[in-house]
Amino acid sequence: MFGFIKKSLGKTVDAIKTVAPKKKTHFTKDELEDILLEADVAYDLVEIILREIYQEKVTREILKSKLLATLRYADYKEPEFTPPFVELVVGVNGAGKTTTIAKMAYNYQKEGKTVLLGAGDTFRAAAIEQLTLWANRLNIPIVSSKQGHDSSAVAYDAIDSARAKGIDHVIIDTAGRLHTQKNLANELKKINRICDKAHSGAPHRTLLIIDGTQGNSAITQAKAFDEMIGIDGIIITKLDGTAKGGSIFSIAYALELPILYVGTGEQPENLTPFDKYEFVDGLLDALFEEETSNVEKTAEKISEEKLVTESKPKPEVEIEQKTEPEPETVVAKEEKEEITLQEEAPEEVQEVQEVQEVQEVQEVQEVQEVQEVQEVIEEDPNREKEEALEKFLIDERLILLKMLSDDVAFVNYSNTPIDTEIIYKDGKWQYKS
Ligand code: GDP
Repeated sequence: MFGFIKKSLGKTVDAIKTVAPKKKTHFTKDELEDILLEADVAYDLVEIILREIYQEKVTREILKSKLLATLRYADYKEPEFTPPFVELVVGVNGAGKTTTIAKMAYNYQKEGKTVLLGAGDTFRAAAIEQLTLWANRLNIPIVSSKQGHDSSAVAYDAIDSARAKGIDHVIIDTAGRLHTQKNLANELKKINRICDKAHSGAPHRTLLIIDGTQGNSAITQAKAFDEMIGIDGIIITKLDGTAKGGSIFSIAYALELPILYVGTGEQPENLTPFDKYEFVDGLLDALFEEETSNVEKTAEKISEEKLVTESKPKPEVEIEQKTEPEPETVVAKEEKEEITLQEEAPEEVQEVQEVQEVQEVQEVQEVQEVQEVQEVIEEDPNREKEEALEKFLIDERLILLKMLSDDVAFVNYSNTPIDTEIIYKDGKWQYKS
């Protein structure tokens, strides 16, 4: 799965490149504003991110922590349930609902699970046909009815059938549009109730499908669905086809909901679990030059110096070689020349040997220096602390406000007035109790 998200960010990266064509080690806040807006991060979120950056130079690590903080709702915990696991899929027509249902079913099949589909969008004949086509293609059972029939009856029958057959997963499609929004809300609520009647606790999760090419304009629509039925997680489709990948930050932030999967193509295998780290790194890789680590820097410096030493012209030594081979010597040619040199030009040879010895000593010293630098860095307790701090901030989705000392820092959740003190104790960072 790894790499699909980054690959799908191609169009978003192209958009970013129009305002930041060259990779750098840091950006100014003005440059950052342009970049985020170009990637379709909503303006109000861009403002929040900029407000929380206190540094003049925005480095990769600073931006990374801010972007990850906007995705802090990304964690989803599966509820306790008795099989089958029932999922209701909602979203406007054209968002990619049918295709995503097929992809989900395909993924479950790959995990060795059994799946049954419910064609609950009874408003559109085409929706029933399309889902049936996918079910046939994937060789999955489907419960459907004629257009205009009661969608909750389809949901009930689908769950009932799955229970009777011992099927692991039920995925139910729903209408994306009815004559009025009120009708749609009533229908979705009714399906919800009926699912619970068919199988207590169902639906176990309700997923909202958002068309990634719509960017931020999908937020209002998503909020409406959340109010109507209550959404547990979001799937963003068509990430591969949008230049608005940055809207994922604003969608997750505005809805306070986890993004569970992203669609990365039209085929059943193109549904990828949303990995926030891969997503953020995929964007940052397009912006920032890779920083060289201290050890590498030292090693590079030394090898540069070494190159200079090596390229220094060696003292010219005119050596007259013996042309006639020694008849009784049975040594290899090079060895022979060496012997010959020693024998014939002792002074010059001494000079060459001295130069060689000096170089060897230098090389040994250089290797020792690199080892010493490495040891110092490895032994530096602050480095360990810094790495642990970085990890803690990312895991807890916190932003570093201020280091009070090497062992104490002030942190904050993005966009909240609560500052918290954390301390380094017993080899790890933790909240000060
Ligand atoms: P529905 O009306 O919401 O059921 O939408 P469909 O599932 O019929 O999808 C609408 C169109 O979007 C179809 O042409 C799909 O092939 C396409 N589509 C869906 N998901 C993706 C995706 O992740 N990437 C791309 N490139 N196209 C997608």
